[in-house]
Amino acid sequence: MRFFIIFVILLFSHSPCTSGNNAWADAEIQPDNTTIDSFTLNYLYDDSRQYSINEISRKDFPLQINNRFTQGYLEGNSWFKLTIHNNSREQRFVLYLSEPFWDQFDLYYQKQQQWVSHKNGLSVPLNRRDYNDTHPAFTLSIAPGDSQTYYLMGSSVSAHIGKLVLYTEQEYLRPTRITLNDIYLFYQGVLLIIIILNSFLFIAIRERIYAWYIAYILAFSAFISVLSGSYLLLGLPPWSDALHTVGTIVVMFMVLFSGAFLELKERLPRMQRVFNAFALTFAVFAVLIALKVPYTSLVFNIVSSLFFALLLFVSIKVWLQGYLKAQYYLIALVIYMPSMGLMTLTFNGFIDNTDLSRYAFIAGSFIEIIFFSLLLVNRFYDLQKEKIKIQALLIEEQEKTEHYLEQEIQKRTKELTKTNQRLSIQTLELEHAKKELTLQAITDPLTQLYNRRYFADIAGSAFFNAMRYQQALAIMMLDIDEFKKINDIYGHQAGDQVITYCARLLTRFSRKSDTVARYGGEEFIILLPQTSLREVQSLAQRIKQEVNNTSIVLKDDSTITFSISIGIAQIERTQDQDIQDIIRRADQALYQAKQQGRDQIITI
Ligand code: GH3
Ligand code: MG
Ligand code: MG
Repeated sequence: MRFFIIFVILLFSHSPCTSGNNAWADAEIQPDNTTIDSFTLNYLYDDSRQYSINEISRKDFPLQINNRFTQGYLEGNSWFKLTIHNNSREQRFVLYLSEPFWDQFDLYYQKQQQWVSHKNGLSVPLNRRDYNDTHPAFTLSIAPGDSQTYYLMGSSVSAHIGKLVLYTEQEYLRPTRITLNDIYLFYQGVLLIIIILNSFLFIAIRERIYAWYIAYILAFSAFISVLSGSYLLLGLPPWSDALHTVGTIVVMFMVLFSGAFLELKERLPRMQRVFNAFALTFAVFAVLIALKVPYTSLVFNIVSSLFFALLLFVSIKVWLQGYLKAQYYLIALVIYMPSMGLMTLTFNGFIDNTDLSRYAFIAGSFIEIIFFSLLLVNRFYDLQKEKIKIQALLIEEQEKTEHYLEQEIQKRTKELTKTNQRLSIQTLELEHAKKELTLQAITDPLTQLYNRRYFADIAGSAFFNAMRYQQALAIMMLDIDEFKKINDIYGHQAGDQVITYCARLLTRFSRKSDTVARYGGEEFIILLPQTSLREVQSLAQRIKQEVNNTSIVLKDDSTITFSISIGIAQIERTQDQDIQDIIRRADQALYQAKQQGRDQIITI
């Protein structure tokens, strides 16, 4: 907070850090001096941008300023006047400006009453400059013991800021000389490593925060390129608004990254919306700055200061809410913000341009970036740990579930097997019952012979087979003679015994292919497929004989003798329509046998 109070005070109390006298300003080159980086300049501000070098050279330069100067953001031309006394034996020198983003930075001097100019700044391509340097650098030729006065004219959409340094040409060209660009290059290398590292992290866990951070570092890397002018070395076209446009984009990604890091979506959802609004605003600012809309940079500076104040407040709030990682974020922020603030103040000319105020941001942002990277790596490890923990839990759960399932399956399998066994027994019983029922439906209960209905079915199909294959087929009908009397004399049970006896006898005498059935009370019928008439008659004879020779012994040792009458008929292919025709004839034959006195065989 203190930083912002200072910032605001300084914002409204601009006082140039330069003395107002009209004293001589010059640089002395002493023998063995290779670098002169502390001298004074005379300064003149031309608001109209109309004066020529001739007119300027006749004017008074009202201010004496340091070789590290900052005049803030100015629309007009800044003029610098410098007299160099060469007390050394060297003849060639280089005048170098530390900031590469000036649109124009030109050198003028008089040679034999003529003005000579060396053009430089973004508007001059690298190959048309005195040296192939992204920073303005001019060749000076001053004979030993001589003095020479130089005029420099600069214009920029950015701040009129810089540091002029005088080198002997030999020193300037010394390959081992470490320049500011070398430091920037090293910085870019570190940024590249961080981008690669975070890209891997992003691929691994696909968290948005890593994407924002990569975008932030990329934008910051672009910002460094613009600040050092190194983008010109890549062949990119000069862009005077680049510094502010890219700077605005850096802040925009910082907003998005900070929102994600502080987990505002979950912790302060409304604040996340405010952050999104800020990000959008900065995106719009970037476009407006690129389009050179007046005063956008100034408004951006105010809005971004407000944002940083808010960011500080929000990160403290999130920290106090119990998000401990926010404190590391705060540390990074507290290091970063003052260093960036110092740079902004220097650019605006509110404080002196010193190496500390101008370049503290390199250290500040470097520490911040390393800090954030460590936090993100840490976050990755935390997530991994969490993942491993969850995986272990899941595996445990799975094992438990699997064990439970196995037991359940075993239980169910046992139950199923039992049910199956029961079912198959039931099925067998059912089948048995079904067979029984079927058998019952076709069997006569007293004799176990087929009943009349079933006989009709069998005989019906046998008739059609015999017709089709032209085979013999005969029907034999048998009736116990005067059975009524047996019943009457010996009783109904004895009658049953006689019927049963006859049934067994017929079964015993008939072949497998024959069908024996009980046709009525004491009446039987036999179907004889593929049997000749003679065979049938012989069978009838044997049956009759057997009956005649039989006497049935009852419980009370009394005996029954009885006879049977038999009617025979065979298939008549030319006239028979169905089996009933044969049965009718056999019945007629039986009737005849009865008529003719019983105990005989009649064939029709
Ligand atoms: P016929 O010589 O003309 O055949 O004289 P019949 O007495 O044998 O003939 P009828 O048809 O007049 O008598 C058959 C008797 O058989 C009548 C009935 O009471 C008796 N009967 C029918 N079914 C059974 C049975 O299952 N058991 C017994 N015990 N008697 C039966
Ligand atoms: Mg009868
Ligand atoms: Mg009878």
